[in-house]
Amino acid sequence: MTTSVLRKPDTIASDDVSLVERVSRLSRSELTPIAHAIDEGTIYPEQVLRNLGAAGAWSAHADLRDTIAGIAAIGETCGATAFMAWCQNTLVWYIVNSANPALKARFARSASSGALLGGTGLSNPMKSFFGIEQLKLKGRRVEGGYVVRGALPWVSNLGPDHMFGTIFEVEAGETAAGDKVMFLADCADANVTLTPCKPFLAMDGTGTYAVQFRDAFIPDDQVLAAPAMPFVKNIRAGFIMMQNGMALGLIRDCVAIMQGVRPSLEHVNRFLPQQPEDFTTLLAELEAETMELAATPHESSNDYWRRVIDLRLRAGEASVAAANAAMLHCGARGYLRSHRAQRRLREAYFVAIVTPATKQLRKMLADNTREHQGGQSGP
Ligand SMILES: Cc1cc2nc3c(=O)[nH]c(=O)nc-3n(C[C@H](O)[C@H](O)[C@H](O)COP(=O)(O)OP(=O)(O)OC[C@H]3O[C@@H](n4cnc5c(N)ncnc54)[C@H](O)[C@@H]3O)c2cc1C
Repeated sequence: MTTSVLRKPDTIASDDVSLVERVSRLSRSELTPIAHAIDEGTIYPEQVLRNLGAAGAWSAHADLRDTIAGIAAIGETCGATAFMAWCQNTLVWYIVNSANPALKARFARSASSGALLGGTGLSNPMKSFFGIEQLKLKGRRVEGGYVVRGALPWVSNLGPDHMFGTIFEVEAGETAAGDKVMFLADCADANVTLTPCKPFLAMDGTGTYAVQFRDAFIPDDQVLAAPAMPFVKNIRAGFIMMQNGMALGLIRDCVAIMQGVRPSLEHVNRFLPQQPEDFTTLLAELEAETMELAATPHESSNDYWRRVIDLRLRAGEASVAAANAAMLHCGARGYLRSHRAQRRLREAYFVAIVTPATKQLRKMLADNTREHQGGQSGP
């Protein structure tokens, strides 16, 4: 995201430069040269993620609007890194909202500085809460913690010393059977195995793995919340709205792509139904609404929750539409593997399919309408 702050090129971490400007500068200087390699999956940008942490990108959770603006600034250059930024920010979001003082004392500082990297394995739980699939992790209480087993098919921003937040269900036959527990999983645990995924359409440089838990011990100071459901209700709007940062950055770059080819192709591109100005207007609307809702991420009214879901749905759809328009404006030059227009299109589909995916968001809205005419469901 561009800001009106005066530029001082030599002072990346200077106090008088806004967080967003610092993140934006770092993204332009460090991500631009490697965005193609990240897209191809030959680089997982660990050092850039740590540098972004040092610049404050993972420590702005007192005001989620700053966090989102930071993710958008990264997303203007690289959608995959914007997704990793979201992963890292969810990890911090879970930790700062946890009521477990031992967990916070152990992890808050390292996660928000980027010394500890990681993400979130909430796709399966989020789908299970809305009746789409069963919870894949099961756990039982033991002295000093829990023992967890099961597997998650995709978790991103991982590596051998990374951590991520996820949820298991207490096994049948145990005390509190059926309860959900949210915890931090440690990839360094010998009973936690990471298996690389098959190549994706995009996002291959995002450190995405299948994760298997073979009776992994989770000590009490890695428990984010037990029971998990009130906690999930508290963090869910922030979890979803931070994803809008991915959309805002991507759409902004799609507008730039369209404007970039205007001098040479205006005479024919003006016949296309969607022009950059259309997306500038749409972007401004999405951004204004995101910032309005992100000002109060713990609001509990149903009306607020519906607005969050609806906005996230529109952000995914607008990403795909903007990237599609950018492709059509570029024509053959955007069809080159070296051009970022086609990368943007592939990244845009990810915004629309990462949990909560377009289809899940539509189901959530439909369920919510039905429930609020009577009944209850969801976390
Ligand atoms: C690049 C990438 C990164 C991701 N990173 C994360 C992450 O960090 N954290 C996280 O929690 N989730 C992650 N996911 C999962 C993602 O958020 C979605 O849950 C996933 O894309 C499926 O969503 P869906 O709505 O299409 O699910 P659905 O349509 O409901 O179907 C998904 C289910 O179908 C089955 N399935 C279908 N195809 C396959 C396949 N090829 N291999 C295995 N199972 C299959 C699985 O049971 C899966 O749960 C990632 C996915 C991708 C592609």
